[in-house]
Amino acid sequence: MQIKPCPCGRTPTKLHINAQDRDKWASVSGDCCNEWSIEYRNGYARIPSDESMELALAAWNAATRAEPANDELSRPATACHEPQRDREAGSA
Ligand SMILES: [Zn+2]
Repeated sequence: MQIKPCPCGRTPTKLHINAQDRDKWASVSGDCCNEWSIEYRNGYARIPSDESMELALAAWNAATRAEPANDELSRPATACHEPQRDREAGSA
């Protein structure tokens, strides 16, 4: 199963499970930003284990992602303006 993109805009190549071994609930975050995490029901599975990772991946992919707001958040930083040199010819 493929990992769906993170709301941060990147697609994680790996998911990190944050929980104790055999926890009932665990949370999973991506290795892209490590900021977005999803809680999922681990059901006392061993951590790490294929079973736990499958649950984490399913929860990650099923989670609702807010559409990135392009208006406010990703306002481009003002690039440095190169002075426009219209004329190089010095008239001195
Ligand atoms: Zn991310």
